[in-house]
Amino acid sequence: MRLDGKVAIVTGGAHGMGEAEARLFAKEGAKVVVADILGDRAEAVAASIRASNGAAIAAAIDVTSEPAWVALIAKTVETYGRLDILVNNAGISGSSVGDPDGLDGWERVIAVNQTSVFLGTKLAAEQMAKTGGGSIVNISSIMGFIGGPSGHPAYSASKGAVRIYTKAAAVRYGPQGVRVNSVHPGIIDTPIYGLSENAEEFKARLAAPVVFPKRMGRADEFAHLVRSLIENDYMNAEVIRFDGGIRFQPK
Ligand code: NAD
Repeated sequence: MRLDGKVAIVTGGAHGMGEAEARLFAKEGAKVVVADILGDRAEAVAASIRASNGAAIAAAIDVTSEPAWVALIAKTVETYGRLDILVNNAGISGSSVGDPDGLDGWERVIAVNQTSVFLGTKLAAEQMAKTGGGSIVNISSIMGFIGGPSGHPAYSASKGAVRIYTKAAAVRYGPQGVRVNSVHPGIIDTPIYGLSENAEEFKARLAAPVVFPKRMGRADEFAHLVRSLIENDYMNAEVIRFDGGIRFQPK
């Protein structure tokens, strides 16, 4: 029970890596708020955690909205009394917005992947400071380091911004006892790719640039990395890749 007594919000907790983090944190003793734009699916995840004797509630939120963030943190404190952990995990791919090279597409990707991290970090840090501090993990991407071969500049721009914002936020909020780190997944098998269960050939192609192990990463192994960052008090302002040593042509 490595997170016993802690209270955690995981955004994008209805699917993929966020769901895996919510489930793991609850298993490790945390009280979890599963926050997602898909309120029904978030409720299903929270209910399933409760059915396994964990503590969880769901919250429907669009992470691009400041009033929604204020309400989310108020609901968390009202329900569980405090806030210790935030994982800014909610995110969308460039291909999910129609035309990511149009202004509307650009603005939506930046809002969901980048502005949400600013809003969540700022408001959570203010709340955490009231009870002695906490830990924030921002989920970026290896596309925050390179111009990705999949070619969505808005996605790379949003994830690169999260990388440097995280470091600046660690400096800003450290004096209040709040640590801020970022994690940069490579290619993890989640619904973000919109693949069917048996898309094995396509998954192998996605994993081709991975050095070892020669496969996509799994959401549950990623969740363990996030948990270890949270529980280690000396990890701060850190930027960690989780990518099987992937080899893209970095430019
Ligand atoms: P996913 O699509 O499986 O889950 C993302 C979740 O975020 C979904 O439940 C979705 O409903 C939610 N969400 C989307 N927009 C939202 C909004 N406006 N407000 C609230 N919730 C919203 O994706 P995933 O693969 O688990 O990705 C999680 C994070 O990891 C994302 O930030 C993604 O960019 C990042 N990432 C993923 C990969 C990968 O290979 N899967 C690689 C690098 C980075």
